[in-house]
Amino acid sequence: GSGDHVPVLVIGTGYGGAVTALRLTQAGIPVAMVEMGQSWTTPGSDGKIFCNMLNPDGRAYWLRTETDQPVSYFLGAPYNKAIPSYAGVLDSEHFAATRVYQSRGVGGGSLVNGGMAVVPKRWYFEEILPQVDADAMYDVYFPRANATLGANSVDPGWYGSASCYQYARVGSGQAGDAGFSTVFVPNVYSFPYMERELAGSAPRSALASEVIYGNNAGKQSLDKTYLAAAAATGRLSISPLHKVTAVAPAAVGSGYSVTMEQLDTSGTTVAVKTVTADKVFFGAGSVGTSKLLVAMRATGGLPDLPDAVGQGWGNNGNVMVGRANYLWAPTGSLQSCMPVRGIDNWDDPTYPCFAEISPFPAGTELWISLYLAITKNPNRAAFSFNSTTGGVDLGWQASWTQPSITAAANVFDRINKAEGTIYRTDLFGVYRTWGDDFVYHPLGGCVLGQATDLYGRLPNYPGLYVTDGSLIPGSTGVNPFVTITALAERNIENVIVNDFG
Ligand code: FAD
Repeated sequence: GSGDHVPVLVIGTGYGGAVTALRLTQAGIPVAMVEMGQSWTTPGSDGKIFCNMLNPDGRAYWLRTETDQPVSYFLGAPYNKAIPSYAGVLDSEHFAATRVYQSRGVGGGSLVNGGMAVVPKRWYFEEILPQVDADAMYDVYFPRANATLGANSVDPGWYGSASCYQYARVGSGQAGDAGFSTVFVPNVYSFPYMERELAGSAPRSALASEVIYGNNAGKQSLDKTYLAAAAATGRLSISPLHKVTAVAPAAVGSGYSVTMEQLDTSGTTVAVKTVTADKVFFGAGSVGTSKLLVAMRATGGLPDLPDAVGQGWGNNGNVMVGRANYLWAPTGSLQSCMPVRGIDNWDDPTYPCFAEISPFPAGTELWISLYLAITKNPNRAAFSFNSTTGGVDLGWQASWTQPSITAAANVFDRINKAEGTIYRTDLFGVYRTWGDDFVYHPLGGCVLGQATDLYGRLPNYPGLYVTDGSLIPGSTGVNPFVTITALAERNIENVIVNDFG
């Protein structure tokens, strides 16, 4: 409640926040977490907690009156639909030249993501974070992250004939035809559960078009892993539907004063509270943490934050594209929403690209191959406080996605050539091939070793830490949550030893 004092407050319940909460509570330290989204534990009138991608309702989006789908056009027409405005699970946050998809809810991005648990190539990790001891990351923290996240791998034998992965087999075969290698990708979705879904002995989730609006079964999201383990210590409290709006040194005594708005499910503020905390961990995600810190520096709450706060934001080189297959190469009407195959062209010296072979879970045969490509885009944007609106802008420019398109086209032009196929130009607009105006993998904004010390401590403010994807310098070469988790594991271990004596 307002006026409370807590030893540790963690803002956000995504990967960075959840790691921090688990390791602190295990060390005997009580942790209070604040999360602007809901705690997704109560079924709606249809008996389900989350809606699926074919029938989105208010639960799908954070305070929008119309869906804002990543693939938002089809055959020349937009197919977003009206929904009631509600504190739903997926936020599409619009900046001037990009839309950033993020989750709102206890568990952060783990509630809506594709579950792909990918460790970056070691040589690339060493390139992006050269000050971090790679031996320790690859020997200790990546394995620790994967084990605690519940990463598992599809049985290749089952995969080889499962109808729900026909799209992945087609995509892999075509990549091979063009000379590219493909790899299996681990996932945190339980593959034993998925096998039961396909066999008809368990309720369908991944096989029922459930993913970006949440999964009702099978997904080992953070609320079932890190956060459940933290709660089991008896030292964790979580306040959902509370949005932090300000952090500043406490007026009296030491520590920090944290201001938050309590929201109802219509997004209306029902109370404003202030608590004090000895230590505050920012785990609000790349965008959430960067926005809060940039606003605090500009408005006087934390004026001595370094210039590097708000810099170095990148989109992990994200770009999406679809290809049209021939009638004799169907991709399947039943598609598992959990991707398990990637085209690995990351070692290409000119055009590194790692492309996830994505599902197109329409519930009907569409002969479409869809991909989310991760490329090495060198462009970086800054967040800046806008004194007119009182908000924080992101200076990404539309033209800055061109290097991503070029690197992805290097792969998919060659696949089209090998197959004699063409791109779909009706999925991201009318005659628009590339889905380059949105991002699933926001990274950076408070880069490790630039905006913080080498363990996430914010300079000039002892007791303030950054613990999420904002630490990673804009790119990690693969889907990012394992990198975020492992880095948070590494950082909190150092912080517990040195700052909680
Ligand atoms: P987040 O997980 O974003 O957590 C931040 C939390 O803080 C959120 O719950 C948010 O509501 C809360 N918050 C923000 N601001 C405030 C505030 N002011 N007050 C209180 N709370 C606040 N990555 C992969 O590795 N594999 C995948 O397969 C994959 N698929 C994806 C699919 C989709 C559709 C999306 C959107 C993302 C996907 N990602 C994937 C990306 C991955 O989910 C993110 O990189 C990851 O969740 C980021 O972790 P984080 O700890 O930085 O922050």
